Amino acid sequence: MNLEVFNGIMIFIIGLVLGSFYNVVGYRLPNNMSIIFPASHCPNCNHKLKFYELIPVISYVFLKGKCKNCKKRISIFYPFFELLTASLFLLSYLKFGLSLKFIISITFISILIIISISDVKYYIIPDEVLIIGSILILVELAIDSIINNINLFNGIVIPILNGLGAFCVLYIFKVLADALFKKESLGGGDIKLLFFIGLLIGFDMSIVTIFIASFIALPLSIISLVKNDNNILPFGPYLSLAAIIIIFSDLNLNMIMDFFIK
Ligand SMILES: [Zn+2]
Repeated sequence: MNLEVFNGIMIFIIGLVLGSFYNVVGYRLPNNMSIIFPASHCPNCNHKLKFYELIPVISYVFLKGKCKNCKKRISIFYPFFELLTASLFLLSYLKFGLSLKFIISITFISILIIISISDVKYYIIPDEVLIIGSILILVELAIDSIINNINLFNGIVIPILNGLGAFCVLYIFKVLADALFKKESLGGGDIKLLFFIGLLIGFDMSIVTIFIASFIALPLSIISLVKNDNNILPFGPYLSLAAIIIIFSDLNLNMIMDFFIK
């Protein structure tokens, strides 16, 4: 087998397994539950999952999306996030090869996936995940700076300033929107998340992230407004999706300027 194909398959499988772990982290962390104990179980009947019921995606297909014991439906979110993690890992490999950029890319994606899982489920973006993620990204950027002979000011301080700048812009945006709509528009977690995104993709592209995320979220928020349900929309997954689109599309400010200003 061609080495690249072999690597791709291995990376996809690692993505499935890690995606399965991120499901556990994303579901348990906001509840202050241990990530390791108790072992994975059905939330309805407490049936402890056997090893073959833990195989990502495949077990979901074989169990037809139901708990083996009580037949309660298992959320489609589990296999969805497993497949999403695996696919984005594979895309990272295809784009960056086996390089430090690949490691940085899958770190970034992993953190955004965990955040999206807990935001979808609980409307919470856990601080711990953002702090660990930011430290990991900064360490990787430092290693990258050393390897490529970039001074640490450009390699580390500039990304931190980018993150802080992005944080401040979204914070001001929130204060204005709260005043305008006379209710809480954005959660604190979304604003802190933009610091993490800004670290890697820079200040200007973080602002673009807000616009892309709002653009994707808009039709869904209109639907929820019309249906008149409780009208809370987790914004974290949209910010994450927008940031990932930017990473993989190499979208930059020059391209956007060129598009609008001929
Ligand atoms: Zn069950």
